Amino acid sequence: MKTTYCNQCRCFLSVIEGYERNGKWLCEQCKEKIENLAEKAVNWWAEVIKNPKFDNGDSSIAGVFAKVLAESLAKNVTREQIGIFKKELKEILIDLLWEYNHVVIGVDYHPDQYLSQALEKAGIPEENAPWKTDMQIIVNQNKVLVAYGYRSPWEEI
Ligand SMILES: [Zn+2]
Repeated sequence: MKTTYCNQCRCFLSVIEGYERNGKWLCEQCKEKIENLAEKAVNWWAEVIKNPKFDNGDSSIAGVFAKVLAESLAKNVTREQIGIFKKELKEILIDLLWEYNHVVIGVDYHPDQYLSQALEKAGIPEENAPWKTDMQIIVNQNKVLVAYGYRSPWEEI
Protein backbone atom coordinates (compact mmCIF):
# COMPACT_ATOMS: atom_id res chain seq x y z
CA MET A 1 0.00 0.00 0.00
CA LYS A 2 1.38 3.40 -1.00
CA THR A 3 1.91 5.73 1.96
CA THR A 4 2.64 9.40 2.27
CA TYR A 5 2.37 12.00 5.01
CA CYS A 6 0.05 14.87 5.70
CA ASN A 7 1.48 18.21 4.59
CA GLN A 8 -0.01 19.92 7.65
CA CYS A 9 0.14 17.61 10.69
CA ARG A 10 2.82 15.27 9.25
CA CYS A 11 0.91 12.14 10.16
CA PHE A 12 1.56 9.11 7.99
CA LEU A 13 -1.33 8.08 5.84
CA SER A 14 -2.09 5.69 3.08
CA VAL A 15 -2.98 7.42 -0.16
CA ILE A 16 -6.45 5.87 -0.17
CA GLU A 17 -7.39 7.75 2.99
CA GLY A 18 -5.66 11.01 2.04
CA TYR A 19 -6.49 13.93 -0.25
CA GLU A 20 -4.12 15.24 -2.89
CA ARG A 21 -3.76 18.68 -4.44
CA ASN A 22 -0.78 19.80 -6.53
CA GLY A 23 1.24 16.83 -5.34
CA LYS A 24 0.66 17.59 -1.65
CA TRP A 25 -1.34 15.32 0.63
CA LEU A 26 -3.59 16.10 3.56
CA CYS A 27 -5.27 13.80 6.03
CA GLU A 28 -9.04 14.01 6.35
CA GLN A 29 -8.83 15.92 9.63
CA CYS A 30 -6.51 18.60 8.22
CA LYS A 31 -8.56 18.92 5.04
CA GLU A 32 -11.66 19.59 7.14
CA LYS A 33 -9.74 21.98 9.32
CA ILE A 34 -8.46 24.13 6.44
CA GLU A 35 -11.91 24.13 4.81
CA ASN A 36 -13.44 25.44 8.05
CA LEU A 37 -10.72 28.07 8.41
CA ALA A 38 -11.21 29.18 4.78
CA GLU A 39 -14.99 29.35 5.30
CA LYS A 40 -14.59 31.48 8.42
CA ALA A 41 -12.17 33.76 6.57
CA VAL A 42 -14.35 34.30 3.48
CA ASN A 43 -17.45 34.97 5.58
CA TRP A 44 -15.58 37.72 7.40
CA TRP A 45 -14.37 39.34 4.16
CA ALA A 46 -17.83 39.07 2.59
CA GLU A 47 -19.39 41.09 5.44
CA VAL A 48 -16.63 43.69 5.33
CA ILE A 49 -16.75 44.07 1.53
CA LYS A 50 -20.50 44.80 1.73
CA ASN A 51 -19.91 47.69 4.07
CA PRO A 52 -16.21 48.58 4.31
CA LYS A 53 -14.68 50.78 6.96
CA PHE A 54 -11.97 53.20 5.83
CA ASP A 55 -9.43 54.02 8.47
CA ASN A 56 -5.93 55.10 7.54
CA GLY A 57 -5.18 56.67 10.90
CA ASP A 58 -5.09 60.17 9.41
CA SER A 59 -7.39 62.53 11.34
CA SER A 60 -6.35 65.69 9.45
CA ILE A 61 -8.93 67.45 7.26
CA ALA A 62 -7.31 65.89 4.18
CA GLY A 63 -7.41 62.45 5.84
CA VAL A 64 -11.07 62.78 6.78
CA PHE A 65 -11.86 64.01 3.28
CA ALA A 66 -10.06 60.99 1.77
CA LYS A 67 -12.09 58.69 4.05
CA VAL A 68 -15.42 60.28 3.05
CA LEU A 69 -14.42 60.06 -0.61
CA ALA A 70 -13.45 56.39 -0.20
CA GLU A 71 -16.78 55.65 1.46
CA SER A 72 -18.64 57.29 -1.41
CA LEU A 73 -16.73 55.13 -3.93
CA ALA A 74 -17.69 51.85 -2.27
CA LYS A 75 -20.56 50.33 -4.24
CA ASN A 76 -23.51 48.27 -3.18
CA VAL A 77 -22.89 44.67 -4.09
CA THR A 78 -25.47 42.06 -4.97
CA ARG A 79 -25.98 38.77 -3.20
CA GLU A 80 -24.86 37.04 -6.38
CA GLN A 81 -21.59 39.01 -6.45
CA ILE A 82 -20.94 38.13 -2.82
CA GLY A 83 -21.61 34.48 -3.64
CA ILE A 84 -19.03 34.49 -6.44
CA PHE A 85 -16.52 36.40 -4.30
CA LYS A 86 -16.83 33.86 -1.47
CA LYS A 87 -16.49 30.88 -3.79
CA GLU A 88 -13.41 32.32 -5.53
CA LEU A 89 -11.68 33.43 -2.36
CA LYS A 90 -12.38 30.12 -0.64
CA GLU A 91 -10.79 28.23 -3.51
CA ILE A 92 -7.71 30.50 -3.39
CA LEU A 93 -7.41 30.11 0.38
CA ILE A 94 -7.77 26.34 0.28
CA ASP A 95 -4.94 26.23 -2.28
CA LEU A 96 -2.74 28.33 0.01
CA LEU A 97 -3.70 26.52 3.22
CA TRP A 98 -3.13 23.16 1.59
CA GLU A 99 0.49 24.18 1.23
CA TYR A 100 1.27 26.60 4.08
CA ASN A 101 0.64 26.62 7.81
CA HIS A 102 0.52 30.41 8.02
CA VAL A 103 -1.24 32.52 5.40
CA VAL A 104 -1.59 36.31 5.43
CA ILE A 105 -3.93 38.23 3.15
CA GLY A 106 -5.01 41.83 3.30
CA VAL A 107 -5.35 45.35 2.07
CA ASP A 108 -3.09 48.36 2.41
CA TYR A 109 -4.76 50.96 0.24
CA HIS A 110 -5.34 48.31 -2.42
CA PRO A 111 -6.26 44.67 -1.95
CA ASP A 112 -3.47 42.09 -2.42
CA GLN A 113 -3.38 39.73 -5.40
CA TYR A 114 -5.62 37.10 -3.75
CA LEU A 115 -8.39 39.46 -2.73
CA SER A 116 -8.08 41.33 -6.04
CA GLN A 117 -8.56 38.13 -7.97
CA ALA A 118 -11.71 37.18 -6.05
CA LEU A 119 -13.12 40.72 -6.29
CA GLU A 120 -12.44 40.88 -10.01
CA LYS A 121 -14.12 37.52 -10.69
CA ALA A 122 -17.18 38.76 -8.82
CA GLY A 123 -17.18 42.16 -10.56
CA ILE A 124 -16.85 43.97 -7.24
CA PRO A 125 -14.79 47.19 -7.43
CA GLU A 126 -11.60 47.19 -5.37
CA GLU A 127 -12.91 50.41 -3.79
CA ASN A 128 -15.00 48.07 -1.62
CA ALA A 129 -11.89 46.71 0.08
CA PRO A 130 -11.26 48.38 3.47
CA TRP A 131 -7.91 50.09 4.05
CA LYS A 132 -5.16 48.83 6.34
CA THR A 133 -6.75 45.49 7.02
CA ASP A 134 -4.95 42.19 7.41
CA MET A 135 -5.88 38.63 8.14
CA GLN A 136 -3.68 35.78 9.36
CA ILE A 137 -4.78 32.19 9.10
CA ILE A 138 -2.71 29.79 11.22
CA VAL A 139 -3.52 26.15 10.62
CA ASN A 140 -1.67 24.49 13.54
CA GLN A 141 -3.34 26.92 15.96
CA ASN A 142 -6.68 26.59 14.18
CA LYS A 143 -7.01 30.37 14.26
CA VAL A 144 -8.11 33.25 12.05
CA LEU A 145 -6.90 36.66 13.24
CA VAL A 146 -7.85 40.03 11.81
CA ALA A 147 -6.62 43.59 12.21
CA TYR A 148 -9.35 45.80 10.76
CA GLY A 149 -8.18 49.38 10.11
CA TYR A 150 -5.04 51.37 10.83
CA ARG A 151 -3.01 49.97 13.76
CA SER A 152 -5.94 47.87 14.94
CA PRO A 153 -4.96 45.07 17.32
CA TRP A 154 -5.16 41.47 16.12
CA GLU A 155 -8.41 39.86 17.07
CA GLU A 156 -9.45 36.27 16.70
CA ILE A 157 -12.67 35.76 14.78
ZN1 LIG B 1 -3.10 16.12 8.81
